[in-house]
Amino acid sequence: MIGVSLLGATGSVGASTLDIIERHPDRYRVVGIAANDNVAHMVRLAERFRPLLAAMASETAARALRRELAQRGCKVEVRAGAAGLCDVARLSEAQVVLAAIVGSAGLAPTLAAVDAAKRVLLANKESLVMAGDLFMDRVRRSGAVLLPVDSEQNAMMQCLAQYRVGDDVSASGVERIWLTASGGPFLRTPVAALRDKTPAQACAHPTWSMGPKISVDSATMMNKGLEVIETARLFQLDAGRIEVVIHPQSVVHSLVEFVDGSLLAQLGSADMRVPLAWGLAWPERIESGARRLSLFDLGIAEFEPPDESRFPCLGLARKAERAAGTAPAILNAANEVAVQAFLDGVIPFTVIAQVVEQTLESVPHHPATELEQIYADDSAARVTAVGLVERSRVA
Ligand code: NAD
Ligand code: MG
Repeated sequence: MIGVSLLGATGSVGASTLDIIERHPDRYRVVGIAANDNVAHMVRLAERFRPLLAAMASETAARALRRELAQRGCKVEVRAGAAGLCDVARLSEAQVVLAAIVGSAGLAPTLAAVDAAKRVLLANKESLVMAGDLFMDRVRRSGAVLLPVDSEQNAMMQCLAQYRVGDDVSASGVERIWLTASGGPFLRTPVAALRDKTPAQACAHPTWSMGPKISVDSATMMNKGLEVIETARLFQLDAGRIEVVIHPQSVVHSLVEFVDGSLLAQLGSADMRVPLAWGLAWPERIESGARRLSLFDLGIAEFEPPDESRFPCLGLARKAERAAGTAPAILNAANEVAVQAFLDGVIPFTVIAQVVEQTLESVPHHPATELEQIYADDSAARVTAVGLVERSRVA
């Protein structure tokens, strides 16, 4: 039996992972679950999976969960706060840790799993964007096995077959990587109409079903910008060799081009259970529950270059990647603040990119060799971004 801890157990990626685990009850056991504040959802998960340990982001939520579980006679230990989340990540009974907390809150528990030399299934791209080389150094030093389950980076890993994260990807003969993007719900929307798009419209993704933050990131294409940074850090690859390509059908999940002219792609239906099953079973394969892709029904697969004037976040992310140090953490923090403000109906859609751009311009970045510096610049960026949101407030 393989013990699995889920960070972000109540989210979209958490649910997809639990669905696979339930299909293989003789192979996996849920040992730890962690989430933000959804107590009712955690009660259901605790009763269904009987983990050893559960953690909630706040003491209040943890207390409520303890009370609910006690009333039901469900004996699961509950811990709270950042320390509690890290305990779930480090649990000795867990061989596999799913890192699927959304945003910067995922960094500390994901690093705890890395330091404990777990097999880490990385969905939380924000942690790699924030901590970059420091994160990768910790992977190398601890001996953790880092398996990207973000669908595109997972596609790249599958195309790289024998490659282990931390190897020199150029030595594997890689010339460049084609990072595919759906283009999101506003790919064909007239640019002048973008300003008035609502959170519900931004979250109505044409091909993927995901949590609200990453859905908005897909609509601005900041998600692809974060993935350029994620890919560059994962594979130690010059970002100039990462080509973003719009592929609205979301069937080809990315491609790796080699020096001999070979182009390898990974295809599958747009279902996170495919990369998640790959990560859970690695280096074997298991049934994921995902719908099979029939080549006869595929139709035409289109590929086109992204229009950076429609999607300014893409260029901003590349700029932060080039600046390196804490610039990607500043970009990420500003984006988190702006996306939340947009979801709360406080700023228009197009102001997200403006908040990110102005924060990136005005908050000084530093070398990102210490976690303290990364968190300090993340906080500075949040203060600046909140100020900018206030000035653009429509509600
Ligand atoms: P979601 O909003 O559906 O779920 C987020 C999870 O994080 C929830 O369990 C929530 O309780 C938890 N969480 C939020 N804030 C927290 C905090 N402060 N402390 C502890 N837990 C906290 O998001 P999602 O769509 O599942 O995405 C999760 C991560 O996976 C994101 O980083 C996203 O970019 C990445 N990802 C998601 C998909 C997808 O298909 N949904 C695909 C690729 C990558
Ligand atoms: Mg992705």
